[in-house]
Amino acid sequence: MTKMILASWRSLAWIIRRADVVLEVVDARDPISTRSRRLERMISSLQKKLIIVINKTDLVPREVAEKWKRIFEDQGYRTVYMAARDHKGTRILRRAIRDVVDMYPAIVAVTGFPKTGKSTIINALKGRHSASTSPIPGSPGYTTHAQLYRIGENLYMIDTPGVIPVEGGPLEAVLRGRPPEQLRDPVRPAVMLLEKALRYNPRAVKDAYGIDETDPYKILELIALKRGWRYKSDGEPLIEEAARAVIRDYHTGKLLFYVPPEEYVAKRIHHWGKSRA
Ligand code: GDP
Repeated sequence: MTKMILASWRSLAWIIRRADVVLEVVDARDPISTRSRRLERMISSLQKKLIIVINKTDLVPREVAEKWKRIFEDQGYRTVYMAARDHKGTRILRRAIRDVVDMYPAIVAVTGFPKTGKSTIINALKGRHSASTSPIPGSPGYTTHAQLYRIGENLYMIDTPGVIPVEGGPLEAVLRGRPPEQLRDPVRPAVMLLEKALRYNPRAVKDAYGIDETDPYKILELIALKRGWRYKSDGEPLIEEAARAVIRDYHTGKLLFYVPPEEYVAKRIHHWGKSRA
């Protein structure tokens, strides 16, 4: 029987306390929106070693991944990047973990917002060690899903599926993996997502849907019409359905864009300048 997992900071802390090293997985397309400062503070206050893992680098140019890595390192974080789905970067991640572990056996907790690729990373690292998994004894009800996976000699991983609360405004919640089915209003975040996509990749909508249009509402209408999604009552396009599709397409990488690291750096310098003024 599967139990419902309740996302809470308490259950996340429960898991982190039992780990020696914590990975924070972020999405290479938008690492800033998919990182959690609150999670980073929790890891630091529990005195655990943190490694930031920039995942899905197959969706961005290599130099973009490199630049994000440098930005995080400049902020004092150990950072690696990888493309877990393609099993790229697993050796580097394993080495980074071994570098910070000072006592074996060691447990690595894999944390981060939903859809950043936590399970994919564990699967990529499990490899031939896949046989041994076991539930963690004594975990409270809401973390019965916490599983221990053997990923090497004296090295284990715990995943934290659905444990981190997804916080933020409508767009942030979507970028941070809240499933479109759970959104009361999928249209507003989908419109914001399309605006962001078009800002960073003017070809994003054309490439994903073959639609040459820049007004997000129009785009949703056209997607709905193309797929025959209409209200039964009056035949109007069902834009809510199109909005959910757009959100899913962002997560699968079909609607493709990435935030350039230069913009983040420029913004920080701007704020720094202002605060000194
Ligand atoms: P979790 O919710 O953090 O455990 O994320 P999952 O491991 O379930 O991955 C979420 C989605 O991202 C899935 O559709 C994965 O196939 C995809 N994904 C994971 N890693 C990568 C990657 O390196 N590149 C790409 N393009 N997609 C990935």
